[in-house]
Amino acid sequence: MKKYIFKITLLILLISLSQILCSASSEMSTTFYYENGKEITVYSDVLSYEEKKEIADFIAFGQFTVENTSNETTRTSLLCTLLGHNLTTTFVREINHNVYTDSPRCVRNEYECVYCTRSSCDYIQNTLVSSIRISSCHG
Ligand SMILES: [Zn+2]
Ligand SMILES: [Zn+2]
Repeated sequence: MKKYIFKITLLILLISLSQILCSASSEMSTTFYYENGKEITVYSDVLSYEEKKEIADFIAFGQFTVENTSNETTRTSLLCTLLGHNLTTTFVREINHNVYTDSPRCVRNEYECVYCTRSSCDYIQNTLVSSIRISSCHG
């Protein structure tokens, strides 16, 4: 009987430990920094660090222009073709520093990002929600 209780206690301990580790790895927001001074923060408590990085990279190196404010990838897995994407919507903030020589110098863009969480799928759809010039960091 004692042995049994010990096993149960150990199991509970392991479960709570894994939950702690899990919540530590999926923080609410993660910021990525890029060479050109760009800062991209992905807000989500469901996506992993790698998934957030994929979204940030997509925004950093994607083809955004003023005319084309929505962008999406095309590679889709067979599973998604059959069952549809497993989508989650996140909020992304991008800061581009010293875009303008006169104040406000920096630009803050905000995106709504729809992301497919299946690892075999590339689907990301980004929509620019707002874009404003800010003076809070570089004047
Ligand atoms: Zn998909
Ligand atoms: Zn700045």
